[in-house]
Amino acid sequence: MRITVLGAGTMGHGIAQVAAQAGNDVVVRDIKEDILERGVKSIEANLQGGVDRGKVSDEEKAATLDRIATTTDLADAVTDAELVIEAVPEDIDIKQETFEAVEDAAPDGAVLASNTSSLSVTKVASVLDDPSRAVGLHFFNPVHIMELVELVVAEQTDEATVAFAEGFVDDIGREPVTVRDSAGFASSRLGVALGVEAIRMLETGVAGPRAIDRTMELGYNHPMGPIELTDVVGLDVRLDILEYLREELGERFRPPQLLRQKVRAGKLGKKTGEGFYVWEGGERVGASDD
Ligand code: NAD
Repeated sequence: MRITVLGAGTMGHGIAQVAAQAGNDVVVRDIKEDILERGVKSIEANLQGGVDRGKVSDEEKAATLDRIATTTDLADAVTDAELVIEAVPEDIDIKQETFEAVEDAAPDGAVLASNTSSLSVTKVASVLDDPSRAVGLHFFNPVHIMELVELVVAEQTDEATVAFAEGFVDDIGREPVTVRDSAGFASSRLGVALGVEAIRMLETGVAGPRAIDRTMELGYNHPMGPIELTDVVGLDVRLDILEYLREELGERFRPPQLLRQKVRAGKLGKKTGEGFYVWEGGERVGASDD
C-alpha cells in the first residue's frame, strides 16, 4: 500500500517506520529538510537497535529504509496515497488546515487518519467535503515498540473506513482497539483517572508516592505506578488533559491543588528534574521532599 505520513517528529518517524517495515511504500512529509533528515536518522537508529538485539535482519533494515521517501511538498507527498496519517502538532487549526490541504491533493478514495491524542477527531474531520473517510489512529510512544493503536471512530466515519483502518493496523502487527470519538478516548481517560486519584491520595496523606506506586506495580502488575508515570508524561501535560476532561466530562476530573502548585513551581517531572520524584540523568533518585 502507498502511505503518507505528515510530520517526521516523535510520532511521525515511528509511524513511518512500522508502516515501511510491514512492506508498505511510505512518503514522509515535514516542513523542513533537516527535520526529515533527523526523522530518517531516528528510524535508522531504531532499526539498528533491532539488528543489535537480533530482532531485525540487516536485509530487513535496508529494505525498510529503501521503502521510505521524504519530501517537504505536501501535494507531492499525498498525490498517490491510499492512506494519509497526520502526526503534525496537537493544534486544531494546524490539523484542520492539514486535512483540507490533503483532501485537495490526495486521490478521492484515500483514507485520512489523525494521530491526535486528545482533540476531537469529529471536529478535525468537519472541514472535509467527505468526512466519512476520516478516522483517528492513535499510536503510542515509542511507536516501534508499543502494540496498541486506538482506532477512533468520528461521528462522520463510515464503516468502510473503520474496516480499512482496522485492516491496516493488523497488517503492521499492532492491535487495534476501536472506540467512539469522545474526550480522552479510552486510554487517556483511564490513565488520567488513575493518576488523578493517586495525587489526591498523596494530598490527603494516605501514603507517600513510592508506596502508592508499588501497590499498582506489585498488586496489579502495572510496569510503572501512576505517580511515577505522571512524572514521566509531564505534570503540565497531565494538567492540560485534566482541564479538558473536566470541561467535557465533569468534576471528577478536577485537577488537584497539589498538581497545580507543582506546575506553577516549574516542577514538571522527569523533564525538569523534579515532579513528585527527583530525577537525575533521566533516573528516579528519590521522592520530592514536599
Ligand atoms: P512533534 O513536535 O515531535 O512532531 C510534529 C512534527 O510536525 C514536527 O516535526 C513539525 O515540524 C511537523 N509539522 C508542523 N507543521 C506541519 C505541517 N503543516 N505538515 C507536516 N509537518 C508539520 O510532535 P509529536 O509528539 O510527534 O506529536 C504529533 C501528534 O501525535 C500530536 O497530535 C500529538 O498529540 C500526537 N501524539 C503524541 C504522542 C507523544 O507521546 N509524543 C503520543 C500519541 C499521540
